Amino acid sequence: MSSPVTRVALLDPKRAFAPLADELKQACARVLESGRYIMGPEVEGFEQACASYLGVKHAIGVSSGTDALLVALMALGVGHGDEAILPTYTFFATAGSVARLGAKPVFVDSCPRCFNIDPQAIEALISKKTKALIPVHLFGQAAELAPIMALGKRHGLPVIEDACQAIGAEWHERRVGGITELGCFSFFPSKNLGGFGDAGLVTTQDDKLATTLRHLRSHGEVTRYDHQLLGANFRIDALQCALLSIKLKHLDAYTAARQKHAALYTKLLSEAGVGAHGSAGACCPACASSDTAKSKAGKGAPVVLPFAAQSRHVFNQYVIRAPGRRDGLRDFLKDKGVDTAVYYPVPLHLQKAFAYLGHKPGEFKVAEAAAADSLALPVWAEMTSDEVTYVAERIIEFCRR
Ligand SMILES: *Cc1c(COP(=O)(O)O)cnc(C)c1O
Repeated sequence: MSSPVTRVALLDPKRAFAPLADELKQACARVLESGRYIMGPEVEGFEQACASYLGVKHAIGVSSGTDALLVALMALGVGHGDEAILPTYTFFATAGSVARLGAKPVFVDSCPRCFNIDPQAIEALISKKTKALIPVHLFGQAAELAPIMALGKRHGLPVIEDACQAIGAEWHERRVGGITELGCFSFFPSKNLGGFGDAGLVTTQDDKLATTLRHLRSHGEVTRYDHQLLGANFRIDALQCALLSIKLKHLDAYTAARQKHAALYTKLLSEAGVGAHGSAGACCPACASSDTAKSKAGKGAPVVLPFAAQSRHVFNQYVIRAPGRRDGLRDFLKDKGVDTAVYYPVPLHLQKAFAYLGHKPGEFKVAEAAAADSLALPVWAEMTSDEVTYVAERIIEFCRR
């Protein structure tokens, strides 16, 4: 019998490593002994495996998810004076990569149900300076792409999917990151396909963009020492590719485990009358008709459960909302040995780094409310159902005090 749970970590990458240890060490040894550490067959093999998994023509390995965004924007020629439209409720890199190129991140509020960019708020922000639309598939759930792609088409704007949290997630039976002009992925250890350090990927169906991306990744070099573009060193490591190739084969099993944990949280919290889906407005029909859990709690439940509106939510995060008592719940869980996280405590429009844009509190109400009351529970693939149950029981305990 396993010992009773007393502590649940937010993530434990060593548990993912353990069952694959021999295979990973062998791959490591193979690369070390090959003497080929930059580019080469390991990188090509991994890129091909990713392209086939994602159903895209081109997959280009890069140094991180952040650099995937940066190089995607560079390939589109985004620079000084340009603008890109993106959600304020996301990880910093989505906007940071735009700003680093001298362009302006133009923020949009989110849908109160699925946390993704509100597509209805985009069109009013499109100007002559707009060069790209960047929806983020936040927490592992596809953003509603149809209206965004329609806007892109109407205004001649490319759409970059920030799929860093959503590898394997689907939108209308298509894997995200391969649906619009460009897709960006991260293999940061906490992502669904977690690497052993930093790494990322850019995807595209477009041959010309793919060639440009490959050049940009290596200093704009077209042939040795013939630099035709201003690129940089955005290469992925051969060693990382060898290791990630092994984990990629298990990605669907990791996803299934995350979905199982998410379903258990939803079941336990809703059956206890503690959690229910919120009644706030939706960003799109899919979101509006999302699978509301059978709940005894109904309106006024202390905990708002995450929606799973789209066809395949891969639960990079299971994010609940506890309006008015998030910090109290977080402290209580910490006391009971449960680690949680807040994604994200400050929306990007209120970050100091973007103070020069002149935004004020109250401008993006959904994002600001989400920042104040959202809480991410542990939902990594290798955790046990006992651990999920322990976390859910502690939340129920807190709500019934
Ligand atoms: C993780 C993440 C990134 C950046 O990826 P890194 O590999 O950490 O650079 C970008 N956007 C989103 C939404 C992310 O979650």
